[in-house]
Amino acid sequence: MRQPSIRPTDVDAAVTRLLVSNRLLASLQPSDRALLERHLEAVTLYQGEVLFEPGDDVTRTYFPCASTMASLVVMMQTGRAAEAATIGREGAIGGIVSSGYKPAFTRSEVQIPGPALRIETARIEEAKERSATLRDLFSRYADALLAQILQSVACNALHSLEARCCRWLLTTQDRVNSAEIPLTQEALAEMLGVQRTTVTSVARALRARGLIRYARGHIVILDRARLEEAACECHSAVKQHFERILPEIKPQSIILRPDG
Ligand SMILES: [Zn+2]
Repeated sequence: MRQPSIRPTDVDAAVTRLLVSNRLLASLQPSDRALLERHLEAVTLYQGEVLFEPGDDVTRTYFPCASTMASLVVMMQTGRAAEAATIGREGAIGGIVSSGYKPAFTRSEVQIPGPALRIETARIEEAKERSATLRDLFSRYADALLAQILQSVACNALHSLEARCCRWLLTTQDRVNSAEIPLTQEALAEMLGVQRTTVTSVARALRARGLIRYARGHIVILDRARLEEAACECHSAVKQHFERILPEIKPQSIILRPDG
C-alpha cells in the first residue's frame, strides 16, 4: 500500500516530538497522521488559561501532551461552576466530531499546564472529509468522552464525596503519569464542586490512612492500590469503556510510587 511521502522538513521538530506524547495522535495510521501533522502547532498551555468560553465558536482544537490536562466546566448563572469532564493526553479538546459552526457549551480551562498541539478545527474537518478511518477514530473518541460525562452524572448523584475524590485522583494520575499531582486542595475542591473546607476534611482522612500526602501545592499518591479500593467503580468503568472502544490506543504505564 502506498503511503503519502512526508519530507521531514515539512513538519516542525517540536510537533514531531509531541505527536507521540498525545495518545490519540500517537495511534493514528501514517496516512491519517500525514493529513494532520503539517497543520499542527506546538504550544504551551498555562494553568488557568481559558481555551474557550460558552458560546465561543470552537475554531481551534487542542491535543494535550505529556501531563497537560484541561477541564470542561459548566458555568451557572450564579457564577458557580462545576467540572463536567477532564481531558489529558488521551484525547482532544475542541471540535473533532461536529462540523461547521460549533458554539462551545462549556468553558474549557487548563488545570495542569504543559505542552499541547493545536490545530485549526477547519483543518480537522478537511482531513475527516478525506479519511473514513480518521472520522471513525474521532467519533469513537467522542463516544468515550460522552461515557466519562454520563458516568459523572451518576457518580455525582450516587457516590460519596470521598469515593469521588479518590476517583478524581486516580483519573488525574492516569493523565499526569506521576505520583505527584500538581494541584492544590482549592483546585480539587473546585473540580469536585464542594467547599474548600469539605475537601480538606476528606483529604485529611485519606492522608491519615496513608493513601496520599500533600506538600507545596502537590497531592502525592502514596498507595494507588488502596486508593483504587477507596474509589467508586466509576474510574474503572470509564477506563474499561475507553479501552474497549479505542483498542488501538496503547495502554499506558502508570508510575505507582512517588519519585522521592
Ligand atoms: Zn462514582
